[in-house]
Amino acid sequence: MKRILVTGGAGFVGSHICERLLSEGNEVICLDNYFTGSKRNVEHLMDHHYFELVRHDVTNPYMVEVDEIYNLACPASPVHYQYNPIKTIKTSVMGAINMLGLAKRVKAKILQASTSEVYGDPAIHPQPESYWGNVNPIGLRSCYDEGKRCAETLFMDYHIQNDVDIKIVRIFNTYGPRMNPDDGRVVSNFIVQALKGDDITVFGDGTQTRSFQYVDDLVEGMIRMMNSRDGFVGPVNVGNPGEFTMLELAQQVIDLTGTKSKIIHMPLPQDDPLQRQPVIDLAKKELNGWEPKIPLKEGLVKTITYFDNLLKQIEK
Ligand code: NAD
Ligand code: UDP
Repeated sequence: MKRILVTGGAGFVGSHICERLLSEGNEVICLDNYFTGSKRNVEHLMDHHYFELVRHDVTNPYMVEVDEIYNLACPASPVHYQYNPIKTIKTSVMGAINMLGLAKRVKAKILQASTSEVYGDPAIHPQPESYWGNVNPIGLRSCYDEGKRCAETLFMDYHIQNDVDIKIVRIFNTYGPRMNPDDGRVVSNFIVQALKGDDITVFGDGTQTRSFQYVDDLVEGMIRMMNSRDGFVGPVNVGNPGEFTMLELAQQVIDLTGTKSKIIHMPLPQDDPLQRQPVIDLAKKELNGWEPKIPLKEGLVKTITYFDNLLKQIEK
């Protein structure tokens, strides 16, 4: 049995990681400041003997004896990470320093949840890990993108300078149950709008693309990365190469929900990347043949069912 710290554990992805680690017989300490996460996401784990929930902000140091750390604390939706951009970059940078310091002191292995946003608005398509990216350092998205890029630098430097055992995963757009209905990201927005019969808000002309990964595939990739061979630190892309335009996504959600909602167009946010698709050859090679198993349609059906139940509960 390992004792594992999950920062951002009460968020969308973190709650699934906590659940999976507990199911494999580990002790889990879930640390969160509840900015975008909630106790509700981990409510079903509360009675578990080996689960502990701690309110803590990763911009402050935290000390605990653990074997592994999954560092996920950071708002991921543009609406939320732009709400307080200084806090966002502090969370990524000071959070990384605090968690790497902890890993160094207690000799824990530490995995960073990095992002495809390190590629910015990519000039190379699809994106391999060797691509250095095209990021605006002073735009609306910079607090997130540059914070995550700096965190990668810190991880590498703690590894090289202090021999900390690190793993870096670059996560591409991931969706699924336990996204916050007010999260603001495209999949949850479209599904909630469709279920409520509201207009579906496509930003720009809707020809920009994203590659959407179902959360179970991501969790499998992250766990395999933590357990990958000694010396393999990444960064490694974990995403589903299935690429769709936002108009295609909107149409799929309309078809699957049978909604009468209409598509409306709204202004494209500043620096919104035009296209995004992962090259996953490295993940396949290093993560024991890992590849995404759940196609978009199947994942959307599961996510629609989740939001449908959630909205009915909220109405009561
Ligand atoms: P989320 O917003 O649901 O989860 C983030 C969690 O971190 C929340 O529970 C939030 O309350 C917590 N948090 C934020 N700031 C904190 C702080 N200062 N101290 C402690 N806790 C804090 O987002 P998510 O989709 O679950 O993303 C999880 C991680 O994965 C993030 O680091 C994100 O950058 C990364 N990621 C996610 C995606 C995706 O598509 N879901 C893509 C790329 C990277
Ligand atoms: N988007 C959209 N309507 C929405 C929310 C987002 O058309 O209601 C678009 C957004 O402009 C972007 C894409 O969907 O092109 C993905 O946005 P999201 O915020 O989910 O993730 P990110 O831009 O960080 O990849």
